[in-house]
Amino acid sequence: MTETPPPDADARRAIPPVICYPPEMLPKPDLAGCLAAFADYGKTAEVNVPPRDAMTFRVPAGAVFTIASVEGPQVGDLNLWNAGDLSERFFSGKTRALHGTHVSVGDRLWSCLPYMRPMATIIEDSLAWYGFDAYGGGVHDVIGTRCDPYTGRLLSGTDYHHCCHSNLTRALADATGMTLAEAEPHVHDVLNVFMCTGFTRDTHQYFMKASPVRPGDYLEFFAEIDLLANLSACPGGDCSAQHSSDTAACYPLKIEVYDAPTVPGWRSPAPNGYDRSHGR
Ligand SMILES: [Zn+2]
Repeated sequence: MTETPPPDADARRAIPPVICYPPEMLPKPDLAGCLAAFADYGKTAEVNVPPRDAMTFRVPAGAVFTIASVEGPQVGDLNLWNAGDLSERFFSGKTRALHGTHVSVGDRLWSCLPYMRPMATIIEDSLAWYGFDAYGGGVHDVIGTRCDPYTGRLLSGTDYHHCCHSNLTRALADATGMTLAEAEPHVHDVLNVFMCTGFTRDTHQYFMKASPVRPGDYLEFFAEIDLLANLSACPGGDCSAQHSSDTAACYPLKIEVYDAPTVPGWRSPAPNGYDRSHGR
């Protein structure tokens, strides 16, 4: 029986963990410099994302963008690409490995291999007070993937067309002129903005609960490279009950883009310096 524990099972379990990637080793963002420059920022664009839909927007390197709750509690699913090369996109898994399951001020959103550089840095978060609740839940997770019609099909046997995956696919197609089939493979695992999630203590299953976000709350990012961004207002609304349907109350999300004087000493990060020889 493989389930019989070995005699030293307790001793093996008692070995303390080590942090895989000590974040203090990473290059540090200049938060004070970003916020100081932000005092002179001017708004250059405003985009309203309708409920159960997605909108793209562009943010030049060195500019700032905010995602804000308006009208009612609502979570958003964010995709990011290098505006000049869609093969460089947000890497949710590595961002999680570097910064933990949920992100906030000072954390970076990293791009995929082989580029692996900061795409954006979170500089303000009105929900930073939330921390982790008694269930282990936190906000702004990089553990969920995005709601999608394929999982919905498996679980319910029905087709729902306004999951975040489909919303992001339509919006990317509209922004680039690609067909839906061409755009869909570019859609990737998201930053779940305002979503409150965690893993259950006993079974370690992914859970969601009502987001603490309220109108006026916002998450603010400094763009480290030229970005094409895409935000879906999730059909789950505040994700207190269900998604992948038209059941939940849903609200818009507001995006604002601000341009500013260059932060002193800041330069857009170069792609990762690894030489890609892979031992040959
Ligand atoms: Zn969703």
